[in-house]
Amino acid sequence: MKNQKSKDGGGGRTLVTRRRVLAGVAATVGGMAGLGLVSSLKEGRPGLDPIGIPAGLPEPPTDSMTYRKNPNSGDSVSLLGFGCMRYPVMPGETSPRSPRIDEKSAFALVDYAIAHGVNYFDTAWGYHGGASEILTGRALRRHPRETFYLATKMPSYQNPTLDEAKKIFFTQLKKCQVEYFDYYLLHTLSTVDNYQAVYEKEKVLDFLLEQKQKGRIRNLGWSFHGDKPMLEYVLSRDVPWDFAMIQINYHDLLYQYIQPPYRKLPSPAPSKWMFEKMVASGLPLVVMEPLLGGRLARLNKKSLSILQAEHPIATAASWAFRFVAGLPNIMTVLSGMTYMEHLQDNLRTYAPFSPLSDHETQVLRKALDAFVVADNIRCTTCGYCMPCPYGVDIPMVFRHHNDCLDDDLVPRNVQSADYKELRRNYRLRLASRVPELRTASHCIGCGQCVKLCPQFIDIPHEMAKLASILEEQGLTV
Ligand code: SF4
Ligand code: SF4
Repeated sequence: MKNQKSKDGGGGRTLVTRRRVLAGVAATVGGMAGLGLVSSLKEGRPGLDPIGIPAGLPEPPTDSMTYRKNPNSGDSVSLLGFGCMRYPVMPGETSPRSPRIDEKSAFALVDYAIAHGVNYFDTAWGYHGGASEILTGRALRRHPRETFYLATKMPSYQNPTLDEAKKIFFTQLKKCQVEYFDYYLLHTLSTVDNYQAVYEKEKVLDFLLEQKQKGRIRNLGWSFHGDKPMLEYVLSRDVPWDFAMIQINYHDLLYQYIQPPYRKLPSPAPSKWMFEKMVASGLPLVVMEPLLGGRLARLNKKSLSILQAEHPIATAASWAFRFVAGLPNIMTVLSGMTYMEHLQDNLRTYAPFSPLSDHETQVLRKALDAFVVADNIRCTTCGYCMPCPYGVDIPMVFRHHNDCLDDDLVPRNVQSADYKELRRNYRLRLASRVPELRTASHCIGCGQCVKLCPQFIDIPHEMAKLASILEEQGLTV
């Protein structure tokens, strides 16, 4: 409803009329994907498209992958781990989480990764609506079992009973077409209550430890998305954990950032506090979200120019990966790779790997400072919020605005001499990228997209701001 407020000042009547019309045609617009009106990202697919990766670089080498030893099992694990939550989906799909995975493209990625030394594959019960485990199993069974490590997870967030957990576990073995999992995780430990209910009272942990004894699990660990008491509790249990999976990236670690949903908790676990606890635990660490959901691959121009002055062709993502992989106890760093360009760029970073020097870390800090003060919308164009039932092309609208910010093309001050010129350029650029029917003006503030955004962007609020720029330009009715 923020949208209505901001628009009512200059054109309330028009807005009400537009909303009535839009509400009336919502069902039709909801079918836009069927008409080919999906977000205009690469190949018409949703997901992080590979912008900023230079073309024409040589192929990464096949014999230079960096490996880390797991001290508990002796496994030699590739420093680049393949995150199986962002497989390419079929053209025309509107969500990158769709179960309709493009099998041919996904197989090509898995095969290329293995040929270049990647051996750790991380899937989960819930990824791609359950289709990731099936696809990962189908892709990996074409390779000798001893050439890869397969990880999957028990969905703690579903609060499974013991019987349900058993059913899930044995179904996972079937879906993945394996006799055993190399790495098995208690997925998304969030609160002590949830942990106690599932793993202690229901005795799901006893069941998993039994599976480990029987050889169906080689390494047992957990992934953490919780508060301070949760981390302290799980580390204090008398359980022989073999590894853990945590979220680390340079933004959260250096900037002491706490993700919005965790800020509301009575005892949120800041990244630095959590990481120090994990290092003290001595557990080998699997890193998730090294790019903060892709945001660190999408720096603004100023931050990028700071990095490029140091290394002209290194991508923003490669800086982020080098930072986390250089931290202590890191066994592997996961990356969800949708395009071959993502995979090749990552392979160049890890084959072979060199950690950031002190000087490079300072450069990164400078780039981060320029990034966190910028007022761009922190959208990664991941497409998770799509489709908007009213047809708004959320990722492209935000990208257009951020690009204009980068180029100082956002009209801000009506009094300034270049205001008219800026307005004109802003409008022309938008028209060349987003059809008028899909611009911010068509957001009615329903809020459906908000819960889907991993970056916690207040999408209706941002749309209202951008719509007000357009309205001033006379683009709306
Ligand atoms: S709030 Fe989100 S889903 Fe709703 S109309 Fe606006 S952009 Fe579309
Ligand atoms: S608004 Fe959020 S969910 Fe939508 S594309 Fe941007 S980051 Fe992804």
